[in-house]
Order: sequence, then structure tokens, then C-alpha cells
Amino acid sequence: MEADVVVLGGGAAGMAAAALAAAEGLRVILLEKTAQLGGTTATSGGMVWAPGNAKAAAVGLPDSVEAARRYLAQTVPAGQNAAARAAFLAHAAAAIEALERRTALRFMPVASYPDYYPDREGAALGGRVLEPVPFDGATLGRHFALLRPPLPEFMLFGGMMIARADLVHFRNFARSFRSAARVARLIGAYGRQRLAHPRGTTLVLGNALAGRLFYSLLRAGVDFRLNHTAELLLTEEGRVCGVWVGGEAIRARRGVILATGGFSHDPALRAELLPKGARFSAAHSGNSGDGIRLARAAGAALDASGADCAFWTPVSRFTRRDGSEAIFPHTVTDRGKPGSIAVNAAGRRFVNEALSYHEFVRAMLRDAAAQEACFLLCDNRFLRRYGLGPIPPFPFSPKPWQRSGYLISAPDLTVLARALKIEAAALEETVARFNDDARAGIDRAFGRGGDAYQRYLGDPLHRPNPCLAPLETPPFHAIALYAADLGTSAGLATDQDARVLDQGGRPISGLYACGNDMHSVMNGAYPGPGITLGPALTFAYLAVRSLSSASG
Ligand SMILES: Cc1cc2nc3c(=O)[nH]c(=O)nc-3n(C[C@H](O)[C@H](O)[C@H](O)COP(=O)(O)OP(=O)(O)OC[C@H]3O[C@@H](n4cnc5c(N)ncnc54)[C@H](O)[C@@H]3O)c2cc1C
Repeated sequence: MEADVVVLGGGAAGMAAAALAAAEGLRVILLEKTAQLGGTTATSGGMVWAPGNAKAAAVGLPDSVEAARRYLAQTVPAGQNAAARAAFLAHAAAAIEALERRTALRFMPVASYPDYYPDREGAALGGRVLEPVPFDGATLGRHFALLRPPLPEFMLFGGMMIARADLVHFRNFARSFRSAARVARLIGAYGRQRLAHPRGTTLVLGNALAGRLFYSLLRAGVDFRLNHTAELLLTEEGRVCGVWVGGEAIRARRGVILATGGFSHDPALRAELLPKGARFSAAHSGNSGDGIRLARAAGAALDASGADCAFWTPVSRFTRRDGSEAIFPHTVTDRGKPGSIAVNAAGRRFVNEALSYHEFVRAMLRDAAAQEACFLLCDNRFLRRYGLGPIPPFPFSPKPWQRSGYLISAPDLTVLARALKIEAAALEETVARFNDDARAGIDRAFGRGGDAYQRYLGDPLHRPNPCLAPLETPPFHAIALYAADLGTSAGLATDQDARVLDQGGRPISGLYACGNDMHSVMNGAYPGPGITLGPALTFAYLAVRSLSSASG
């Protein structure tokens, strides 16, 4: 069996590379280890950080590569990959343009989504980040079943995705006629879709991104093979020339692209590179370090330099009705809303709850009393208004969550503290102090609500501080949060063309890596929304550009 390009992994990076290579007229074989395409990408928010993209101007926020460069200089530690980072900045906009021209990917600018350190020089308040245009999954025909679905907890009625822009309508449907009409229209459309499909076909966020890429593969006639796990890279005179899979050699005339999604579920690499406190992962279970292992066996170097070796998120854990174990990432839905508070095992606050999910977990890992777990607390007003993690707001009942032990509720803070095995006096004092500050709208301890990103996560209708409200309406509620990753950031050392480097810093001929298999150009920092998918798509583009010009 022979192809021009063999791609390992069917997430954003792998599918983008395969679709672009096919558009160049190359014969591509994409191997995916699991039974579905999409990887973590399919369950992600689908945000794509693309500095200097041509679409930002359409929402009145024209961006420049130079501003993004200044911003990264202040938020990302220097590493050994300056050339790769420069290539990302220089080519992100071109990659988006090429993907829209040559594949079915379509993007729209997100008008309001600040970078995570919005007060640093060069930060953008929106426009720099793009999101996929919604996609009709029915376009995939019988292949729709082969697209990995979103997490059940991010869908309503067992299969309905909600676009970011529609969240506000669901929250306000009882208060606004316009919102009620919008919600009714969306539910009606979903009902009609369910007559013919096992889930809603209006795909948004990461599922739209993965769905559009999958459709691009089908349109371009890419030979994709599910349930295929490459066991070895084939080499010839120092050049990677194919893969060994299922007792068969597949030769790759131009090269092999590794896009197997990093090492979130590889116990050995986790033990080597991640702190002990980070025991869980919100990433796809298929991401078990295969690309890194295969490349290292072929002489590749691993780059673990930088601030952290993973992108962090706090998660909560529960068992679904069908008995499966669920991990809910608390990225943007609850921590920053007014009326919640995070405390450690000593009943003390240890972090500004409205910081990015990455910074929140960093603070957990720094605090001896929060490393194992911390608690997110709220009062009943908060729970009814915003929900908590996977628990939807009113009119849904929290009772099943209380019965399962996920949500711990109590008539007052003393009883809640006892249930959480926290000293009651400490918790009461923490909440009393927080409440005083919340009423004044100033968080003297941590400055919550102090910048545009934090306020973006808050409730714009809540005054004076959209991130602060006292916890005073019983019963009081709590869930446990754990440190987890949503992807790994340490990975294979690569150059500006996504070519994998050996121990001496020389490119290994015929071997490329993109997505979380390559060491992140963010060097373990998380400066803004979409900083994993933006580089994943850009380096898929650069890898294909490089191997198309290589001789076959
Ligand atoms: C809840 C959540 C929200 C997120 N939101 C965002 C966001 O909005 N923006 C952003 O930038 N990032 C986001 N992320 C992170 C982002 O989703 C990932 O970093 C990104 O999807 C990784 O893309 P990838 O192509 O490298 O890997 P994946 O999308 O995980 O794809 C890797 C694929 O490779 C397959 N594979 C593994 N081993 C093999 C093998 N040996 N052979 C063949 N195939 C193999 C896997 O099964 C998988 O299908 C989010 C993550 C989570 C968990």
C-alpha cells in the first residue's frame, strides 16, 4: 500500500492536514485509532486564535500580527521554539484563508472574547479569535454516525447543541419575548431533526469544526481508516517513509504527519511531565501519547520546556445514568458568575475564581490545601439563575444531582462545612468577608472582576461588579473541583515547517507533527481563547506546504 502522505489522527490537526494535502492533489491516507473521527476537537469550544486574521475588521476590531507578537512576548515564556512561534504568527491568517478556500471550513469572527490577560500590551478584546460557522451534520449522510459527538452535558434534550450566541436566549427565555421566540424556533428545528437522526444536526463549536473537516475529507476523497493504530514508523536511510499498521506497511512517498493529540491519557508521560495533583483529563481518551512515542523511537526530541506541560482546566466528576464516568470542564460557565466562590480544604479562598481555567488550576496546584480538590460553592439564587457545572438552571431540578452525591446542599454554611469536612468557623468567616466585599462590588482579596476577561465571564446584567454577588440565599450548595488538563502542551520539538527535530535539532526527513503532538508554541502558557486550535490548523497548513514542495 502506498500514498503520498500518511496522517495519523483524525482531530483538527490531522483532518486539516489531510484535507489540505488532498487539495494539493496528493494521495492521502488518514489513520484514526478509534471508531470515530473528531478527537478532543469534536468536544471542544472550537475557538481558533488567529492573529491578524482578515475577519476581525468585520466586527470593528482589526487585528495586527505585530500587536499579537507584543502580547505573546508578555504572556508566553521564551523557549527553544522561537522560530515556530514566529511562523505561527506570520502564517495563521494565511492558514485560515487557505482552509476556507480549499476545504469546507468556514469561520466567523467572535466580536467579544477577550484575551486572557487583557491588560497586557497588544491584547485583543475580540476579533482575534474565530469560531466555526454552524454546520448541518446531515450533510455527512450516513457518515454522521462516524463523527464523535459533543459531551452529553453540553447538549440539551439528549442531543441539541447550543451556539454561544444562543446561550443568553436560553437563560432569558422566561424574561424576554424575543428570547422565548428564539428558543421555541431552535427547539422546533431540533424536534424535526430528531425525526431522522439520533442527535440534532445543527452543529456548532468544536463539533462544527470537526464536522466541516470530516466533510472536507469526504469531498476530497481522502482514504480514511478508522480503528487503525500505527505501531511503528518505517525509516530508510534516516528518512521516515511510512508506517506499520495491523501487520501491513503503508509507504508514504512525501511524509508522515503525526497528529494523535498529545499524551493526556498516557500514564508514563503524565508521571514524567505533569504534577501529581493533576490526576484527570478532559481530553479524548484516544490521546495516549502514540505520536510522541513513535517519533521518539525514530530519534525525535521531546520538548518539555516552558511554564507547564499541559493546558489546565478544573473539572468535576460524576457518573452518568448509563454508568459511564463523566468529567465536566469548568472553563467558562460558572466560576466567574456572581455568587460563586472557590475554597480549599481549609475553607479559605486561594484564587480569583474568574481568572482563566489555566490560571485557576495553576493556583490549585500551588496551594497545598487545594491540590487534591477544592470546592465551588454557591447559594440557591445562583444555582437557579446560572446552574452549576452540568446542573442546568431553573426550571430544571437539582434533585437528581443531590441524590447522586455530586451536589452537596445544606440549609446553612455550618452544615455545609461539616458535609465538606471543612472547619465551619473558617468557611463562615470566608463567606462573610467575601459577602461584604461583594455587596460593595470590590474583591479586596483577589480583585475578581478586575479586567475585561473576567467581566466577560460574569453576568453583564449584574451590578456593580458582574463577577461578584453575596452568597446569602439558602440552601447553600457545593461541588468538588479537581485539577485536570484539556490537552498537553509539551510535545515533539519541531521547526517552523512542523518538521520533527532530532536530538541535535536537525529535521528528521519525512516526519511532521502538528496539534498537541508538537510542543506548543505557547510554551505552557494559555494566553487566549483558541490558542491550541489556532496553531493546530496553522501547522497543519505549514506541514502540507512543506511536504508538497518535497520531492516524492
Ligand atoms: C472541553 C474542551 C474545550 C476546548 N475548547 C477549546 C477551544 O475552544 N479552542 C482551542 O483552541 N482548544 C480547545 N480545547 C483544546 C483542544 O480541543 C485540543 O487541544 C485540540 O482539539 C487538539 O487537537 P488535535 O488534533 O491535536 O487532537 P485531537 O482532536 O484530540 O485528535 C487526535 C486524534 O488522534 C487519534 N489518535 C490517537 N492515537 C492515534 C494513533 N496511534 N493512530 C491514529 N490515530 C490516533 C485520537 O483518537 C484522536 O481522534 C478544548 C478542550 C476541551 C477538553
